[in-house]
Amino acid sequence: MLSHDRLLDRYSRQIALKVVGVEGQRRLARSSVAVIGCGALGTAVAELLARAGVGRLKLVDRDIVEISNLHRQLLYDERHAIQGAPKALACAEKISEINSEVEVEPVVADVSHRNVLNLISDVDLVIDGTDNFETRFLLNDAALSVGVPWVYGAALETYGVVMPILPGRSACLRDLIPNPPRPGALPTCELVGVLNAAAVTVASLQVASAIKLLLGDEEGAGVATYVDVWRHSLERVRVERSEDCPACVRGRYEFLEGKMSRDVVLCGRNAVQISPARDVALDLEELANRLRRTAEVRETPHVLFVRAEGLELAIFRDGRAIVKGTSDPARARSAYARYVGL
Ligand SMILES: [Zn+2]
Repeated sequence: MLSHDRLLDRYSRQIALKVVGVEGQRRLARSSVAVIGCGALGTAVAELLARAGVGRLKLVDRDIVEISNLHRQLLYDERHAIQGAPKALACAEKISEINSEVEVEPVVADVSHRNVLNLISDVDLVIDGTDNFETRFLLNDAALSVGVPWVYGAALETYGVVMPILPGRSACLRDLIPNPPRPGALPTCELVGVLNAAAVTVASLQVASAIKLLLGDEEGAGVATYVDVWRHSLERVRVERSEDCPACVRGRYEFLEGKMSRDVVLCGRNAVQISPARDVALDLEELANRLRRTAEVRETPHVLFVRAEGLELAIFRDGRAIVKGTSDPARARSAYARYVGL
């Protein structure tokens, strides 16, 4: 924790804000936030929260940095893309350079019904930096079940939406969108693109919502804000709780019960994520030595890259693999079975 003088110095422009003040700044320093997904939204959110002096940040992401991420995902650079650095680790490293007072906890993992409660139950607030509805509906269930506020956010093309959700006090995600859209039913940013300024604007609104909630201001909870940066338009809509909302009214957490499939087609990326059926800790060095005879292997500190059969597998210590070069789950799973074998 910073001394009083250093706190006044470092955060003077923020403390000068009527809505923050010295007490508010101290409150932020005692706060913790989990950022789920460290892509375009998550990196911008993490950077702003760290600069604002939020005391502890948990940064969760399942993926590695690629060159096509750089146009919109702040904090990453070409070196990360060439290495194939795990996003959670690259993001955490940059955050520590920006503000060494912030306690940063990177987690390289896929958020699933098995680990989500663990990931969010020791923080004051959760921010949605994901790019898919399956995970958002799971976050909604998890946040409601443990009573942690969370801030939904999404950006596409030149527009986006943000909604802070306060368990027990406001409408939830399922009052805005009752069920996850079918895979392929909605455009994705891989297919229709996203303007980096739209993503950063959504992230800014998420951060403002987060700081408000952390400081005890509940005004925006349950209000969906739609923004289009191309048209400079912004619209706020209060979302009402539906009488029979399965999640926030009936307390039925269907997604937390594991309705999601284990294998995820990473839409538009020509890649499939395969997850092991049980918790494992892979010895990547040993696996690399075993595979070297049959495949082209590249070792990095946290990810093992294996090229074979026209596919590239990025294999993580938790047993997951992102199989690039196919969008066919069966083909990806059989390659996984051959090379990882879990
Ligand atoms: Zn609800």
